[in-house]
Amino acid sequence: MAKALNFIIEKCTGCHQCELACSAVHTGAFNVELSRIRIFIMEDENKNVPYACLQCEEAWCMHACPVEAIIESTETGAKVLLDDVCVGCKVCTIACPYGTVVYHPDSGKVVKCDLCEGHEEGPYCVSSWPSR
Ligand code: SF4
Repeated sequence: MAKALNFIIEKCTGCHQCELACSAVHTGAFNVELSRIRIFIMEDENKNVPYACLQCEEAWCMHACPVEAIIESTETGAKVLLDDVCVGCKVCTIACPYGTVVYHPDSGKVVKCDLCEGHEEGPYCVSSWPSR
């Protein structure tokens, strides 16, 4: 069965633990800029809105990629980026209607949520989330 993160926006306190856990698991650094999940701060409404890839069925990022650097996990249905195949053309960032595929200038490649594919007990943003 295909899986995806489900965000309960009302429960988000804006603590950024999920971003830190995500960056630590994927990069070894505690840096929210390297996270695949992001918190959008709506100051006018005093709300924090977590968002990440919805692993949508259409997967426009996957179909738009000219080098097939995004594949579908047979285990979870997550759209997984193959880092060593990505050439950093950014086409997927344009194709994604939700803005959840992010280009990183340091690596010259994109990052996106893959539900912690290959990491046991993930997704770590969920288990790190104090408000669940
Ligand atoms: S940036 Fe990478 S994953 Fe995205 S479309 Fe280009 S090659 Fe594919």
